[in-house]
Amino acid sequence: MATEARGPAYDVAVIGLGAMGSAALSHLAARGKRVVGIERFRLGHERGSSHGESRAIRLGYFEHPSYVPLVRRAYENWNALERRTGESVLVTTGIVEAGHPGGVLVEGSLAACRLHDIDHELLEPSEVRRRFPAILLPDGYRAMWQPQGGIVKADLASALYIQTARADGAEILTETKVLGIEPGAASIRIVCETRTIEAGAVVVCAGGWIADIVPELRPVLSLSRMALTWYRPKRPELFGLGALPVFAVENEDDIVYGFPDFVGTGFKCASHFSSGRIVHADDARQDAGPADEARTRSFLERFLPDGAGDLVAMKTCIYTMTPDEDFVIDRSPADPRIVIASPCSGHGFKFASVIGEVLADLALEGETGHDISRFRIGRFADPAGR
Ligand SMILES: Cc1cc2nc3c(=O)[nH]c(=O)nc-3n(C[C@H](O)[C@H](O)[C@H](O)COP(=O)(O)OP(=O)(O)OC[C@H]3O[C@@H](n4cnc5c(N)ncnc54)[C@H](O)[C@@H]3O)c2cc1C
Repeated sequence: MATEARGPAYDVAVIGLGAMGSAALSHLAARGKRVVGIERFRLGHERGSSHGESRAIRLGYFEHPSYVPLVRRAYENWNALERRTGESVLVTTGIVEAGHPGGVLVEGSLAACRLHDIDHELLEPSEVRRRFPAILLPDGYRAMWQPQGGIVKADLASALYIQTARADGAEILTETKVLGIEPGAASIRIVCETRTIEAGAVVVCAGGWIADIVPELRPVLSLSRMALTWYRPKRPELFGLGALPVFAVENEDDIVYGFPDFVGTGFKCASHFSSGRIVHADDARQDAGPADEARTRSFLERFLPDGAGDLVAMKTCIYTMTPDEDFVIDRSPADPRIVIASPCSGHGFKFASVIGEVLADLALEGETGHDISRFRIGRFADPAGR
């Protein structure tokens, strides 16, 4: 263990190695820094928010157009990871977003596509049916096609960032729970159950547990239980790659999204809305049940009836929600050497490749060239200052 005189053993310590922490660790190690990644469970565990074979990626961004430059950079960084590792992390399937009249999904994506000149096409329900026979939209629904939308292979992406971080000299501690961080004059002490670590800066990417380490976030974050379902379609030929794109459909009381069966595990779909609040992330369980199946099956019977075959699997996962559903990416007001990242609200994974870069910038330079003004932690204390 380093003494105060020699300086901390690590330039940066990353707490939590889900999608964000693994990407941050890789970007930091690639810059030749002495870095350590600390994960309380095993790598690839299913207790948090990043597990599973797939996450959707899309350019025209209904949540807010200001996300588009970040998604563009995310694509570039995912491609850079693919070039470095020789693995394909992205699967381009295109994305169909559709919704009832007055919905937010299509209007928001359309506005972002027009503002940022993103390739897109408005489609009538009949044209969606002609191109993608699995999708049955009622008359009056609007739909939009974005050809560059698709899938990020989630588990693989995080594993490749860990692999590249290790290759660049990063140290990784698993089954090591951080209990707290103590800023000192020359370094920050990270107190774990089994040891203490000293680092010049800390990046906290603890997902649903982040408020345990950054208590000032506890009043603003809430945890949602999310359930995912996989089905064996009645007509599998309509649900494979090339036949079905990634899709999201907004009806009167739900937004349900899904993926083609690209790895033989069945056709995956899920609701974007919570199926229950979680008080603490430790309470989350892999307890998906009949009510979760009923929710997506009733949606499928209306909008993708040929998909409502035998149930193959179900999983749960955590959304860490902010009140405005925007991310928190900032340096701690208490100590700028502490970088805080809670980029979730159910839409963060696609950005992991650029958020890793931003977190490395903030930890090493104290600033980043990417526009993260929307993600300030102070906005909750002073919403008017947004
Ligand atoms: C069902 C579902 C569907 C989603 N779909 C999409 C999608 O289609 N597209 C998209 O872009 N995003 C999507 N998301 C969001 C995305 O998956 C998340 O934003 C992202 O995975 C968050 O990553 P994270 O690294 O912040 O959190 P996590 O993966 O939860 O990582 C946090 C890590 O910190 C560790 N940790 C916590 N406390 C400690 C401690 N004290 N000491 C050490 N380690 C600790 C945890 O064990 C965990 O590994 C979805 C999320 C869910 C749940």
